[in-house]
Amino acid sequence: MITLAEGMGRLGTETAFEVLARAEALKQQGKDIINLGIGQPDFRTPDHIVEAAAKALRDGAHGYTPANGILPLREAIAGEWATRYKAKVDPGRILVVPGGKVTMFFAISMLGEKGAEIIYPNPGFPIYESVIKWTGATPVPLPLLEKNGFAFKAEDVLQRITPRTRLIIINSPANPTGGVTPRKEIEKLVQGLEKFPDIVVMSDEIYGRIVYDGNEHVSLLEFPSMKDRLILLDGFSKTYAMTGWRVGYALWPKEMIEGATRLAVNCHSCVNAASQWAGIAALQGPQDAVDAMCKAFDERRRYIVGALNQTPGFRCVEPGGAFYAFPNIEGTGMTAKQAQTKLLEEAGVATVAGTSFGAHGEGYIRFSYANSLDNIKEAIRRIGDCLRG
Ligand code: PLP
Repeated sequence: MITLAEGMGRLGTETAFEVLARAEALKQQGKDIINLGIGQPDFRTPDHIVEAAAKALRDGAHGYTPANGILPLREAIAGEWATRYKAKVDPGRILVVPGGKVTMFFAISMLGEKGAEIIYPNPGFPIYESVIKWTGATPVPLPLLEKNGFAFKAEDVLQRITPRTRLIIINSPANPTGGVTPRKEIEKLVQGLEKFPDIVVMSDEIYGRIVYDGNEHVSLLEFPSMKDRLILLDGFSKTYAMTGWRVGYALWPKEMIEGATRLAVNCHSCVNAASQWAGIAALQGPQDAVDAMCKAFDERRRYIVGALNQTPGFRCVEPGGAFYAFPNIEGTGMTAKQAQTKLLEEAGVATVAGTSFGAHGEGYIRFSYANSLDNIKEAIRRIGDCLRG
């Protein structure tokens, strides 16, 4: 019998991929499935980005690149942050990696170990808790509440800090709730953290460009007091519909960038060169496709929230960002997992149980509205029929 390392027993997963596999299996059996389970834009990567990658390949960008990413891409990222957040960033502190996930894996691995505590949002992106447990660190959930629109409160973060806290993870706009934390709370958090200069903060801002109505994305990069202990996680997957290109990036504290780069060398050497050239085109090219995508998401968001609130047993707060709705389904009498299974097997609609995002997700399910309005309307109709029995 093969003996695996002990930590493997603690490693979790991302259930959205399991739902996707089950949805595909049902499709193979001839069932008509509408997939509102997977968190990826239903748009194609804009043509000028695809063309930049094709050109890079034609021009011979076939080899390894520096482990931390090609300099023109890191300069483009620094330029983007300078414009958006008025922050001056040294491209030497940016590490380009194969997707947003890699930054969180590296950050948690570098700080997590037995005896350390890591505060993370719950419900939240499932990989945070999974990797925290894998490292042996203690996961300290920060419950996100429907009554606060799933935004976090600075006070709730600060009161969870102990002498063992090494890392605090925050995510706004958030997966799976679409919650956006207002500036006032972020400012309070930053102010409160001034008393704890040794705690690192990883701010997952991968949905930073996808906000609606009066909601505002506030980056931790705006705050000079965070500069030496901020890991700012971002990437191309969501903003530019590039989930399959596998390219993300982060700003790292001076004390961590060398270690993070060493992990990259040990793990993947570098991100494929063509994706990096595509990333430059994404940041420096026209942004109208991003605006059009956000406009389409907004229209679907308005529809789905209204329609879910008309669905028996459902209650849905308005998400301020990302492309998820996270309705409370307690009124149906089902658990989150039961609702996920019933909707998939009986209504042919793939969603993800809130518990896939942590224990505090019980009573909720996640809908991704990164699908056409027609499909969303049909999904809601089917769910209504299914629940009315
Ligand atoms: N962070 C959050 C909050 C996400 O929802 C996701 C993807 O769903 C990621 C990071 C990872 O993105 P990537 O596909 O670039 O690894």
